Amino acid sequence: MRAFSLLLPLIVLAGDAAVAQAPDRGAAWWSHVRYLADDSLQGRATGSPGYDKAAAYVIDRLRALGLKPAGADGYRQPVPLIEQTVLQEKSSAALVGATGETPLSVPGDLIFSGGGGPAPEAIDAPMVFAGYGLHLPEAGHDDFAGLDVRGKIVVVLSGGPANISGALKSHARSERGAWLAERGAVGLITLVTPKQVEIPWNRRIAVSGAPALYFADDDMRESKLPFLNASLDPAKSALLFAGTGKDFDRITAAADASAPVPGFDLVQRLRARVAATRAPLTGANVIAVMPGSDPKLRSEYVVMSAHLDGYGVGAPQKGDAIYNGALDNASGVASLIEIAKALKAGRVKPKRSILFVIVCGEEKGLLGSRYFARRPTVPKHDLVADLNFDMALPIFPLVAVTPIGYDQSSLGRDAEAVSQAMKLPIWPDPFPDRNVFIRSDQYAFIREGVPALFFKYGFKAGTPEAEVEKAWRASIYHSPFDDANQPVLTAESVKLNDYVAAVAMKVANAPTRPTWNDDSFFKRFAR
Ligand SMILES: [Zn+2]
Repeated sequence: MRAFSLLLPLIVLAGDAAVAQAPDRGAAWWSHVRYLADDSLQGRATGSPGYDKAAAYVIDRLRALGLKPAGADGYRQPVPLIEQTVLQEKSSAALVGATGETPLSVPGDLIFSGGGGPAPEAIDAPMVFAGYGLHLPEAGHDDFAGLDVRGKIVVVLSGGPANISGALKSHARSERGAWLAERGAVGLITLVTPKQVEIPWNRRIAVSGAPALYFADDDMRESKLPFLNASLDPAKSALLFAGTGKDFDRITAAADASAPVPGFDLVQRLRARVAATRAPLTGANVIAVMPGSDPKLRSEYVVMSAHLDGYGVGAPQKGDAIYNGALDNASGVASLIEIAKALKAGRVKPKRSILFVIVCGEEKGLLGSRYFARRPTVPKHDLVADLNFDMALPIFPLVAVTPIGYDQSSLGRDAEAVSQAMKLPIWPDPFPDRNVFIRSDQYAFIREGVPALFFKYGFKAGTPEAEVEKAWRASIYHSPFDDANQPVLTAESVKLNDYVAAVAMKVANAPTRPTWNDDSFFKRFAR
């Protein structure tokens, strides 16, 4: 363990000669991370014994603080799931044209995904290319306009028009599967232009055998019917366009330039067989409540969320196969435990109730948070806000805070007030194109109309901090090295915990509940 703790300031008690050392709250926070990220918990994959052990630890801590159970089964909310493992090497695919067949190797050329819902055992369907595959009529853009997708496999390409915000494009991508399934499409093949590749294809192949999870209840899924989700090797993508008379290189060049990419019918069909195993599995969210002090407002809930699941055991790297998930996201769960402790000890009590929602299945597609947000254990209308922790990254000093989503709702003004009081300015997200606002659990709440913030250490592009963050993402993120043997600034995490606790108190004690800004795109989900 190479974590180092900056010395906490000494507290001088007024009217007392004694000088008391504040208990090392950073060390307390880190002790939770160390437990949750220990090898014995095997990376906390949703539904695994290691996850259950982690959940038991969190429940013990919250119970010891006097928080009440608020799940469906004590502190737990069971999340019924299906684990689907695509047997890529037992699957097959071919492009079928008028003059013959072009076999595609699986998982060499094509990879089938096991997420979202059951994959069809066999499929033989025509294909239609739909450009960027973005349905955004509100932005004056619809790649599906004029295309018939019924009974077809829809092929889409990465990227999008430059004049549409990244948040909107990401939102359209996250809603795309459900939208297409509703219109009778039977599958989706996602292409990435060679220039836009983020994860090398061979790494995609390496993890293609990993089990995926989807909701056991088909009401919760994108599609009630089996739906094919696949990705094609960027180096082989031109094969799909054979016989259309269109030049694939020109299409990718247009996509790389964010220029218009019109859709058209492809002349070949895709014929495929997908071999997969399926087994039921129950995930568990952990839910605990700190009841509010105000007889009226206590029926409203400020949610504080963080995901407990990690990547479990996976492909070994340098002889280590346990993906401990220390900063992603044992750190966030540890923060919630410490914030619960601080709120409990505080003299001012929250008027609204604080609901601690520690979820499963984030790494498998925000499953635990979506389940809770759709089927909360308290009345849905009474969820007034979500404050989320995911990978806050205490790897450089906290001099500013980036509460993602602060420009979308009144929660931004609450954060601004805390920022002024604590002298921790708000800095905007230096990389808005990553669209993190819809990539962690807060999005499940946003999707149900609940205003949310997602807390990150502030830094600016082109600074040493940006380099530290980039290096962490390149070498540690989602690897076995995100463990308790990395340097972490534990005292800095205390500052962020205090900041978020103060925001929670501000929201909990405000006379009115938070509202979306009038110009927020996400306001549409509010009921
Ligand atoms: Zn993650």
